[in-house]
Amino acid sequence: MMSITNPPPFVTTLDIRSIRDAFPVLKQQVNGHPLVYFDNAATTQKPQQVIHALNAYYQEYNANIHRGVHALADKATMAYEKTREMVQTFIHAQHVEEIIFVRGVTEAINLVAASYGRTLIEEGDEILISAMEHHANIVPWQWICQERKAKLNVIPISDEGEIDMEAYHQLLSSRTKLVAVNHASNTLGTINPIKEIIRDAHHAGAVVLIDGAQSAAHIPVDVQDLDCDFYCLSAHKMYGPTGVGVLYGKKELLERMPPYQGGGEMIREVSFEHTTYNELPYKFEAGTPNIADVIAFQHAMKFILEVGLDNIAVHEQALLAYATEKTENLSFIRLIGTAREKVGVLSFVIEGIHPFDIGQMLDARGIAVRTGHHCTQPLMARLGLDGTVRASFALYNTFEEIDQLVEGLNKIIRFLK
Ligand code: PLP
Repeated sequence: MMSITNPPPFVTTLDIRSIRDAFPVLKQQVNGHPLVYFDNAATTQKPQQVIHALNAYYQEYNANIHRGVHALADKATMAYEKTREMVQTFIHAQHVEEIIFVRGVTEAINLVAASYGRTLIEEGDEILISAMEHHANIVPWQWICQERKAKLNVIPISDEGEIDMEAYHQLLSSRTKLVAVNHASNTLGTINPIKEIIRDAHHAGAVVLIDGAQSAAHIPVDVQDLDCDFYCLSAHKMYGPTGVGVLYGKKELLERMPPYQGGGEMIREVSFEHTTYNELPYKFEAGTPNIADVIAFQHAMKFILEVGLDNIAVHEQALLAYATEKTENLSFIRLIGTAREKVGVLSFVIEGIHPFDIGQMLDARGIAVRTGHHCTQPLMARLGLDGTVRASFALYNTFEEIDQLVEGLNKIIRFLK
C-alpha cells in the first residue's frame, strides 16, 4: 500500500470507461448535474452482473435451499453454496465451513459477542478495542463487558489517526481475552497494522476479531496469513447486495462456540427435552437465509477479482493522493485523518460551516458525500469534532470527479464568505 506522503503518479491502469458502463446507477443526472458518487464507504453501487443475478434467481429458480428434493431447490442450494466457496477463495480461508453468512458486519460482530463473549469471557477479563471503532464494534462489547463483569479498554490514537502501538502493548496483558479492531477506519481511512496487532494479541493469549467493513473491497485479505481468529465483512460495501455479510472464524473456535440463534437448519435433532446442533457452518445459520442476495454476492466478488484487487488499490490510492493534494492546499479545509497508510477516504472540516450544510450544497451540484459522525461518536469526541464531510472513493471514481468536488467546495466558500 502506498503512503500519501509519497504519492504515486496520478495514473490508473483501469479501463474506467468500461468499468463505469457496468454500473447503471452512475449514468444519471442529480439536480441537473452528472452524479458524482463519493459515498462508497457507506455503500458501493452495484454492477449489472449483480443486479442480473438477483433478478435471475427470482425469475428462474426461486426456492428454499438445503432440504429440497426438487430441481429448483437443488439449483438454488448449489448457487448459494457456490458463494460460500467464492468467499473462501476471496479471503483465503482454509475451510469452506469457516464461512458463515450473516446480514453484515454488524451481525457478525454481534454473533461473536453473543456466542463467544457470553461463554468464554469471564469476570475480570478484558476486551480491547481502538478509539477509531465504528459503533458496531463498540456496543456489542460494552454489553458483554456489563453482562460478564469484564472491562472494556480502549487503545488511544494519535492526532493523525494512527493506533498508538506503544499504548497497545501496555494495555495487552494476560487478562486481555479479545482484541477487536477495524482493518481500515470508515471515518479516517487509516489502514491499521493488523498483522502486528494480531501477532501481539496472540502472544498475550487473546483472540482477535477484525472488522473488515472498509477493507475487503480495497485491500487483498488473506485470513490465514493474517492469522486472525475472526474477520467480518459486508457485501454491500463490496459492490454486492445489502443484507448479506460474512463472519469468518477459525474452525476450532467456531466449533467451541454455541449457536447464536435457534430455529430451522441449525439443529441436528430436536425433542421437547433436548436439542443437538448441526455442523458448521449451518449451526450459525438458523432460518431461511437471504438466498437471492447471497447468490448475487458471488457476482460482486467475481467482478472484483476480474478487475484485480491490486489494480483497484493502485487506482484508489492515486485518487486519494490526487484528492489529498488538491484539498490540502485549500486554506479553508482541514483534513481529518492523515495516517501514513490509508484507504480512499478523505474526511475534512471547514471552520465555521456545518458539515451537513456542505453536504447539502454539494448535493445541489450532484456530488454525493456523507456528513456527520459516521457512527464513530467516540472518535469524534477524541478529535473534538461534531462531524466531518467524508468523500470515499471506489474503483469507478475518476480524477475529473475529484476536480468537480474541489470546484464545488471553492464555489461554496465564495458563496458563503
Ligand atoms: N464497521 C465499519 C468500519 C463500518 O464502516 C461499518 C459500516 O459503515 C460497519 C462496521 C457496519 O457495517 P454494516 O452496516 O454493513 O453492518
